[in-house]
Amino acid sequence: MTEKIAIIGSGPAGLTAALYAARALLDPIVFVGPAFGGQIATTTEVDNFPGFPNGLQGPELTMAMREQAERFGARMIEAVVDSVDFSQRPFTLVADGQTYTAESIIIATGATPRPLGVPGETEFVGRGVSYCATCDGFFFRNKEIIVVGGGDSAFQEGLFLTKFGSRVRIVHRRDQFRAGATLQKQAGANPKIEYVMNTVVERITGNGKVDTVVFKNVVTGKTESSPVEGVFVFVGHEPNTQLFQGKLEMDADGYLTVDDRLHTSVPGVFAAGEAHDRVFKQAITSAGFGCMAALEAEKFLAHAAVTA
Ligand code: NAP
Repeated sequence: MTEKIAIIGSGPAGLTAALYAARALLDPIVFVGPAFGGQIATTTEVDNFPGFPNGLQGPELTMAMREQAERFGARMIEAVVDSVDFSQRPFTLVADGQTYTAESIIIATGATPRPLGVPGETEFVGRGVSYCATCDGFFFRNKEIIVVGGGDSAFQEGLFLTKFGSRVRIVHRRDQFRAGATLQKQAGANPKIEYVMNTVVERITGNGKVDTVVFKNVVTGKTESSPVEGVFVFVGHEPNTQLFQGKLEMDADGYLTVDDRLHTSVPGVFAAGEAHDRVFKQAITSAGFGCMAALEAEKFLAHAAVTA
């Protein structure tokens, strides 16, 4: 059976697209992907999604979105899409060895945390190096933690990690943070947070697990070793678009090229969220893009039916 619409990804963009597509009676299927909910599901407090005056946890938000989409008939498929063929319609997708066809596609594959790229990082992933405070913070009770980065993620996750660590040092390569004022104020008021400015991590070392980080001050050029058990890296993201290399237009960094109505370079294939958005990257903007993509897909299908 050919689906009317297949959505790849289950973060705020994918789940909002599913809600709108389901309410338009398009019976969407959603490929959940490697981890349900996307990045927001690994976040702790979400305080800036409108409608929740007291905030809520990331996983609660994505579960609520899922239930809402399912209420109108969206179907979740717990599988990862391994390959796509957009050369003709219906489009073909293969997920966990099974083939699906669909008249339109919404790509909501999001983005993945960017690695630092320093010696020792890959070696110690899961043994002191982490990209997810919610997942791993618990393992660092009363331990020395550093957070690398100077954006909202570094501050938000750094604040969360103060629940566990004896001290949380935010290590930033410049002398000014990119993070928003509210988060900076909260961190400034937290006695467990310290700042290490103008500094990069040069390497991470240990014996089976991380025990030392070598810092380099980028102004003085001086290096210094410091005992550290937890290294949390929040230095931005890379779009999850490798699957579409050579099949859809994208820029040099891998962000999908879309027009102002979220059409990709292939008619009938739309993108929503951090797979194309390098600017806003908020749960609410991704949800908005999901809505827009579903409305455009609906129009595309109606037009395709008339002209068929
Ligand atoms: P980001 O805003 O891109 O910040 C990345 C940080 O990492 C920057 O401070 C950057 O330094 C630093 N960095 C990048 N590459 C580095 C490297 N190789 N070595 C050392 N430092 C490096 O990423 P983000 O904090 O993950 O945030 C992404 C988006 O999500 C943003 O739009 C943000 O507003 C949003 N977000 C919002 C919230 C919230 O509203 N509560 C929470 C999390 C994320 P420079 O500053 O020098 O470039």
